[in-house]
Amino acid sequence: MKRRAVLRPALLLLALGLAARAQPVLIRAGRLVDPATGTASTGQQILIEAGVIRAVGPSLAAPPGAQVVDLSDRTVLPGLIDAHTHLCLTMVTQGGKGLNELLQRLLGATLLETNARRVLVGVVNARDMLASGFTTVRDVGNAGNYADTELRRAVEEGMVPGPTIINAGRIITPMGGQYHGLQPERPDLGEPEYLYADTPDQMREAVRKNVLFGARVIKIVVDDQPYLYSVEDVKTLVAEAARAGLKVAAHAATEAGVRIAAEGGVASIEHAYTASAEALQLMKKKNVYLVGTDFNRSASEAMGMADYHQKVVDRLKRARAVGVSIAYGTDIVFPVPGETRGTLSIAGIESFQEAGFTPAEILRTMTTSAAKLLGVDGQRGAIRPGMAADLVAVPGDPLADASVLRRVSFVMKDGKVIRR
Ligand SMILES: [Zn+2]
Repeated sequence: MKRRAVLRPALLLLALGLAARAQPVLIRAGRLVDPATGTASTGQQILIEAGVIRAVGPSLAAPPGAQVVDLSDRTVLPGLIDAHTHLCLTMVTQGGKGLNELLQRLLGATLLETNARRVLVGVVNARDMLASGFTTVRDVGNAGNYADTELRRAVEEGMVPGPTIINAGRIITPMGGQYHGLQPERPDLGEPEYLYADTPDQMREAVRKNVLFGARVIKIVVDDQPYLYSVEDVKTLVAEAARAGLKVAAHAATEAGVRIAAEGGVASIEHAYTASAEALQLMKKKNVYLVGTDFNRSASEAMGMADYHQKVVDRLKRARAVGVSIAYGTDIVFPVPGETRGTLSIAGIESFQEAGFTPAEILRTMTTSAAKLLGVDGQRGAIRPGMAADLVAVPGDPLADASVLRRVSFVMKDGKVIRR
């Protein structure tokens, strides 16, 4: 009885969501962008039924009872993807203290917050990301004790609005990794934020624990401690994740870390702030995506990492020259008055613009390329029949000026209008 009582509200919401989506929707798009080819076609219509795109073409008739959405004055494109979020983490910074001090403050603060609060933070950030046009995110940990799994499930059940979430659960690191405030008397202070794993058995157990508790990707930290994971360690983690059908995202900020992660066969390397052209070449050879978390100037300053902006712009230039696959990822975890997690995240395109990426290239990092990394390219990241109806609209032409992506004025998620 008790179980039924708990489930009922969620099922009711789900039923309401399905009912709302049962009505077909016909969208009239003034211009429709295909990020894969970097081209746009005019006067297109998109027919959506049960949350899925059924047809795309210039002269589709609205079926009886269809809701018609007129976006003929706007450009329609696939929903955007952020491959590096921390939805269940928002921290207040004073700034100007450098990366290690920042991480200490970050984790000291988050350890004082209950898991319940982490979920609530996640609900707000998920809502705001969706409103800014991010219909899919990969969430790479720092979510307390699996707050990210609960958030993902709540979004999937229709309880709260949010993007499709590919979540990492707890971040796996060597002993004490990434948390720089451990004390000998309190070696477990970094838990439950992290899972410490040093031996192959511990690594396999950590991956299995994440799988058991709802992770959809495995996040590891290769080089945020004096003792790096070895290539063999990374291979052990990648193999165990693969057995459960999951990919591995690796935090690697140093040249050595990037090389180890790439040789170890991870799917993506996060940050790689100062990776050399040679390291980026190795990533390309090994089919490893760069998720650069390329802070724009103001984000760098807000994080107390002002010097990082130019570093990531220079690294983006090298990455573009090498031709390594890139997925857009923001790593935004701080609040700014008057902004949301969504508006701060979309502003990361400034770094790509500064590095000389074309608008079409920027758009691909946020759609087709990111969808491929996340393993959702069969359902999301493009507007064509059979794909989930995740789409956004902007004024102007995002193939001429990527800045218009900062002015998303319409959002549809799985066929449901979120914002118009
Ligand atoms: Zn991060």
